[in-house]
Amino acid sequence: MRAEIIAVGTELLLGEVLNTNAHYLSSRCAELGIDVYHHITVGDNFARLCETLSVGRERSDLLLVTGGLGPTADDISREATAAAWGRPLVTDPDLLDRIRTYFCNRTVEMTANNESQAQMPEGAIALENHRGTAPGFYLADDVGSVACLPGPPGELRAMFEEALLPLLRSRDLIPETRLFSREILTAGIGESTVADKLADLIDAQTQPTIALYSGTGTVRVRLTTRAADAEEANETFVALQGEIGRRIGEYIYGYDGDSLSASVGRDLRERGLTIALAESCTGGSLSGMLTDAAGASDYFLGAIVSYSNAAKEDLLGVPQSLMIEWGAVSEPVAGAMAEGARDVLGADIGISVTGVAGPGGGTEEKPVGTVCFGFSGPWGTETEGHFFTGDRAGVRRRSAIYALVGLRRRLSRSS
Ligand code: ATP
Ligand code: MG
Repeated sequence: MRAEIIAVGTELLLGEVLNTNAHYLSSRCAELGIDVYHHITVGDNFARLCETLSVGRERSDLLLVTGGLGPTADDISREATAAAWGRPLVTDPDLLDRIRTYFCNRTVEMTANNESQAQMPEGAIALENHRGTAPGFYLADDVGSVACLPGPPGELRAMFEEALLPLLRSRDLIPETRLFSREILTAGIGESTVADKLADLIDAQTQPTIALYSGTGTVRVRLTTRAADAEEANETFVALQGEIGRRIGEYIYGYDGDSLSASVGRDLRERGLTIALAESCTGGSLSGMLTDAAGASDYFLGAIVSYSNAAKEDLLGVPQSLMIEWGAVSEPVAGAMAEGARDVLGADIGISVTGVAGPGGGTEEKPVGTVCFGFSGPWGTETEGHFFTGDRAGVRRRSAIYALVGLRRRLSRSS
């Protein structure tokens, strides 16, 4: 089934209200296996809404309209739908009763314009609104079908779940298969490199399809397939997932809801290793990330946030001469920081981050985005220098992620 979501409201076009209804309806349709081919937003304008509905009626099986069902003059979804489907508006006596009862129960005075809410295009089926006065409706003919739902998000969701879905199910209109996806999560490899390594698979994609999404320091490879249930979906994922694993396996840290910090935590726990950190430019956010994973106390001993040179010297034992010779942002200092953290906290592994997060503080030799890492552990002490793009928050986040990526790489290498 091909659906189209039509959001009605000038406030949406003006950017005053975010179109969360389209987001909700689209994600629910995806879960239900209903293909959504278009999102349209149109103002409270009768002619333009009629045109939108007429176009949609021809090309889609189901139009999901949200908003414009209220009692005031700018609420035009009822009239426009009736016009597009070529039906007169008629008053539904049951609806009128229900609206009257709604007002009676709330001792709010009912005005004449509320009566207009009891009108529907002839032949439409009313959709109950338990949360407000505006009823919705469903109308279908040989050309196409439409469901008009209210704008307020709470009312929309309730009506979609409690009134429209049962109706569509009773008419066998919900597909038997739906979309399933599997996300392969990678870090430490750029989007274009992933695209390059998977190019032939991406070109040949049918079932499942492959899409890449890049985040800050991470790239997700998303496989999507249509299937009756999770088991059947899994069967279609297995072969492709295996092939992708063969090509970029060393960068894969997990699947679906996994996190990088939880994956690193598992690696440390399995090996019975403990870790300590020395953070400069990340200011503690690497510790925050590492301790996002529940049970981090099994391996995380602590961190020293050593922002100043004095703190690096006093708390971590970094020789002052090293900082004078190389500068605080340098691989030799990063190495000494990592060793310091490991020794002071008595951990198996020490990791350090020192860099120029910006916006100020950059030099020609060490521009903003220059970040040095130290990794001290059973493999000895190794250092790396990198350059990250982005604003201050981006550089800090990329740095923290890279520290975890570098650690993962060393753990898998040494096992
Ligand atoms: P009412 O009876 O309240 O007038 P309605 O069905 O006529 O309801 P609208 O008047 O179009 O709906 O919108 C009412 C309010 O619902 C808007 O002011 C806005 O806050 C919210 N709303 C409308 N459409 C959307 C949307 N697409 N996404 C999120 N919120 C929306
Ligand atoms: Mg309204």
